[in-house]
Amino acid sequence: MIKLAIVSPCYNEEAVLESSARRLDTLMARLVAEGKITEDSFVLFVNDGSRDSTWNIISALHRANPRFKGLDLARNVGHQNAIMAGMMTAKEISDAVITIDADIQDDLEAIPRMIDAYAEGYDVVYGVKVQRQADPLLKRLSAQAFYRLQKKMGVNAIYNHADFRFLSRRVLDQLALYRERNLYLRGIIPSIGFPSTSVDDVIAPREAGESKYSLGKMLGLALDGITSFSVKPLYAILLLGIIFLLISVGIGIYVIYSLFVHTAVHGWASLMLSIWMVGGFVLIAVGGVGLYVGKIYSEVKDRPLYHIKDFLD
Ligand code: UDP
Ligand code: MG
Repeated sequence: MIKLAIVSPCYNEEAVLESSARRLDTLMARLVAEGKITEDSFVLFVNDGSRDSTWNIISALHRANPRFKGLDLARNVGHQNAIMAGMMTAKEISDAVITIDADIQDDLEAIPRMIDAYAEGYDVVYGVKVQRQADPLLKRLSAQAFYRLQKKMGVNAIYNHADFRFLSRRVLDQLALYRERNLYLRGIIPSIGFPSTSVDDVIAPREAGESKYSLGKMLGLALDGITSFSVKPLYAILLLGIIFLLISVGIGIYVIYSLFVHTAVHGWASLMLSIWMVGGFVLIAVGGVGLYVGKIYSEVKDRPLYHIKDFLD
């Protein structure tokens, strides 16, 4: 039997929080009755700097039922860092952690299967979306295109797995050693290398409230997912540079040719063209390098990922 912690990040989740808490409580009571988890297993809600009444709801849940614990972060630090804060807090007082989004779109029935997999000797169990009809079409398509791009870039991540996963304490202790700021858990965890497997996860629609993943947040995560694990974009810039060089050689030949046949004045077009081309290329290259420099900048500062304001244990 394990002492299980379910960690759930919440950002402005007042609309779904109570209903999600009820569902988790029912599940945990069942797992206790089945002898899969201990009586003192718990749910840890991480309040990621919500501006609505999320923290009040978490506090009330905690007062009413000791199974609910709460962690209040001092400000909004984003999904990945909020999960990290929850996991690092929970690992000190549990044997294993399952992370699940507060709107519980994931399949709760995958949780007992994750625990069974742990009993069979797996330290990491990924919830893999086998069916995501409930996700909006655009989100589904863009996510799948992203998973493919990631693979091309050599990032070692699990296809169609987000952050619904089981981690044993052993893995969490290793995860704690990762000091990076641009946290992309889906890339880090496979690279730790403990025995892992996956269980099926069927995504349901969000019960209430809107997606808390704004386009900006999603793009930021996608960018981290590639630039934190792969330098291939840098090489792509190099390749682009070579192609542009070849093109400009062609343009050079054309310019000399038009000089000889006295149509040089027409060369204005090709000149303008190459100025723009080279200028564009330089900008792309500088921007690409800048991405990495920016990351180095934030890594060397080595700032804390989050600040805990309150812990309801
Ligand atoms: N979330 C968070 N901090 C943020 C944004 C989101 O902790 O800055 C949480 C949110 O409360 C939810 C999870 O991340 O538990 C996933 O967000 P959401 O369900 O809105 O994303 P979607 O399902 O649309 O991808
Ligand atoms: Mg969701």
